[in-house]
Amino acid sequence: MTDAILVVNAGSSSIKIELFAADDALASLLAGQVEAIGLAPRLFLRDAAGTTVADQAWPQGEGPRDHRAALAAIGAAVARAAADRRIVAIGHRVVHGGAARAAPVVIDPAVRAELAALTPLAPLHQPHNLAGIDAMAELHPGVMQVACFDTAFHRGHPWVADTFALPRAFHARGIRRYGFHGLSYAYVAMRLRDVAPEIADGRVVVAHLGNGASMCALRGGRSIDSTMGFTALDGLPMGTRSGQIDPGVLLHLIAAEGYDAAALTRLLYHESGLKGLSGLSSDMRALEAAGTAEAAEAIAYFVYRIRRELGALAAVLGGLDALVFTAGIGENSPRIRAAVCDGMDWLGIALDAAANARGAMAISAPESRVRVLRLATDEERMIAIETLRLLRG
Ligand code: ADP
Repeated sequence: MTDAILVVNAGSSSIKIELFAADDALASLLAGQVEAIGLAPRLFLRDAAGTTVADQAWPQGEGPRDHRAALAAIGAAVARAAADRRIVAIGHRVVHGGAARAAPVVIDPAVRAELAALTPLAPLHQPHNLAGIDAMAELHPGVMQVACFDTAFHRGHPWVADTFALPRAFHARGIRRYGFHGLSYAYVAMRLRDVAPEIADGRVVVAHLGNGASMCALRGGRSIDSTMGFTALDGLPMGTRSGQIDPGVLLHLIAAEGYDAAALTRLLYHESGLKGLSGLSSDMRALEAAGTAEAAEAIAYFVYRIRRELGALAAVLGGLDALVFTAGIGENSPRIRAAVCDGMDWLGIALDAAANARGAMAISAPESRVRVLRLATDEERMIAIETLRLLRG
């Protein structure tokens, strides 16, 4: 038996899981997920060579009905596929760590209660993360569990980047700009030290462009501002989320059109963004392929807001040394990267079109003052790294 670390990322409609060897190299052993929980669930697991070791699909209404059942099912599949491994620690992605948590923490009953108390700050995500923790405590009693937060990396923001211009008491009671995607930014900041150490301590903007999308300003490898705020709704438009919106629009919808909290939640989280603007899809690949005027406008709005935020974050940093693209769209869409960088020579950005088109890691032209990079993010590996660190004390 050799030791392994299990990483659990329990999202709203899917659960991702990955098993790592518990040594310095943290080799990935198994990765998989349960998707479409509550609809027509499918569970699959692949080993390090990419071979499918479990694949099960259930018809509509059958199979694991909720997160608890889905976690039990995938936990059992991992145990079967890795019978020669002893799970010595379990790391969880937890969306909210509140104002106090600037680092991962070992979960004990007091921490579990603290995280549950933060549910009102992230009602769509925190309950699933807690379900993951409870299910793993049942499956692996006595094994150390660690919470790694999406908010923690941003806790060093200066006050002006952490507050809204509301009466002061609101900040004190937790109405703050927390920022999210912190595990992705922490991973990218760490990778920069390996692949481009000469800029890792400089002024860097990271664009995490996936289904969820945000940008982060790094100085000296630490976050000093981000486009996301109190929730993961603010900032850039996303697959189905609106991004930044004049709060007066919401007041109008409430006062004049009878919207309530549930209707606004549906509108802002599930019906807006790329999906709302295109009337077609939340998926960038589908929009790039569609060729309709609405799809083109949705892409144009996405790119426009990224460029605006790039200018704003460069101003916050007092200049720019590097721009990094990451996550599904950032890593895989040369078209979006090119559109973001187009005409940005005033900021010192010049893209190498050929390097960008073939998806190289370094995609800026030799004369570009700002380095432009394409780096793959890996939130699960970041959680494994932090969990191993706490395991070793
Ligand atoms: P999540 O936030 O769910 O982890 P991802 O980081 O996987 O999302 O990003 C998903 C997005 O990446 C989708 O919009 C998808 O269309 C987009 N994407 C993936 N591959 C490509 C590609 N080759 N070209 C354009 N967009 C892509």
